[in-house]
Amino acid sequence: MSPYIRHRLVTEAEVVDAVLDRHSLHAAEKFVQEVFWRTYWKGWLEQRPEVWRRYRAEVRELLAGDLPDGYEDAVAGRTGIDAMDAWARELVDTGYLHNHVRMWFASIWVFTLGLPWQLGADFFLRHLLDGDAASNTLSWRWVAGLQTRGKTYLATTENIARYTDGRFAPTGLATDARALDEEPFPPATPIPDDEEPSAVGSRVGLLLHEEDLEPASLLAQLGSSAPPLATAAVVADASSRSPAGASSLVVDFTAGAVADTAARTHDADGGAATILDSAGAAAVMDWAAAGRLDSVLVPYAPVGPVQERLDALRPALDGAGVRLVAVRRRWDSRAWPFASRGFFPFKERIPGLVRR
Ligand SMILES: Cc1cc2nc3c(=O)[nH]c(=O)nc-3n(C[C@H](O)[C@H](O)[C@H](O)COP(=O)(O)OP(=O)(O)OC[C@H]3O[C@@H](n4cnc5c(N)ncnc54)[C@H](O)[C@@H]3O)c2cc1C
Repeated sequence: MSPYIRHRLVTEAEVVDAVLDRHSLHAAEKFVQEVFWRTYWKGWLEQRPEVWRRYRAEVRELLAGDLPDGYEDAVAGRTGIDAMDAWARELVDTGYLHNHVRMWFASIWVFTLGLPWQLGADFFLRHLLDGDAASNTLSWRWVAGLQTRGKTYLATTENIARYTDGRFAPTGLATDARALDEEPFPPATPIPDDEEPSAVGSRVGLLLHEEDLEPASLLAQLGSSAPPLATAAVVADASSRSPAGASSLVVDFTAGAVADTAARTHDADGGAATILDSAGAAAVMDWAAAGRLDSVLVPYAPVGPVQERLDALRPALDGAGVRLVAVRRRWDSRAWPFASRGFFPFKERIPGLVRR
């Protein structure tokens, strides 16, 4: 389900509401918490954008230099550790790995193979259909002992044998997982207040992107201030996940998600949404000029590649007298401020966040 939630083809609110229509929060607690892990990671990274910026810079540097010994074998499924090799191939062939496998894989990558966690996270981000800046980067950091300082995750032969029903029992795994270290980050910055636009403009275009492909509930959130749409467009660039791009499975999945979204998104006259063939500022500027827009409405993009793209687009549009207006979902605005510490205090807030 996560590729669909990650692109907001279905929103967290829809999933949780559907579950709570049929089950009590008590009965569905575990599942609802799983969904909130995604929200938690996003809210945590939102308050510490430098963690993402440093990761991006380190991946760029590592991929541009001499690749560490063992890296090519690890991503090609040639380490000689049968489980790792099967999982690397499974990831490349399917775009998915179960959560427990992701934990084992990351642990063996860091502690047994001694490879940089950033390159493992990059390998995942390029291949996972649900690849997500916050969930992926912060889960890798958690395994490596950087996220909860000093607390690491050690994959063991017994645990792998038990939960794979004996299919794998790799030997020679690290028996000690000493937490990695790093330069400290600047203090967290609080989530800025909600940016609900009051008056958007008189010719407004809606521009959807791969962080949020569900326009109906986004526009419904604006209520009576939802502007009539002069035009609508959808654009995505899966390759911006990594300097090495994204796998063809990810590119195809994203293209399918964009096509699906365009087919159910219309402007005020019923005109179908356009799919822009480039996510670059020039293509968006051309679209805005053709629609004689004074404002472009976008779903808020959390810290990650799409936010980087929108940050580059904003001054370009400004220069042409077009305002870029981001709408942050109430789901995020309400929950993110609570993601300032660990998941335990955050999860205490869940009953209040889902109460309708
Ligand atoms: C090293 C590592 C890297 C990961 N990278 C990503 C990633 O790039 N993108 C991503 O979406 N998840 C990531 N995860 C989290 C988790 O593995 C996936 O969300 C989960 O496997 C999705 O499968 P599912 O839909 O069957 O989940 P279910 O167990 O059915 O859970 C329902 C939904 O809850 C959310 N969820 C569940 N567990 C987590 C979690 N730990 N963190 C965040 N959301 C969660 C997902 O949206 C999921 O679809 C990573 C975990 C690890 C350990």
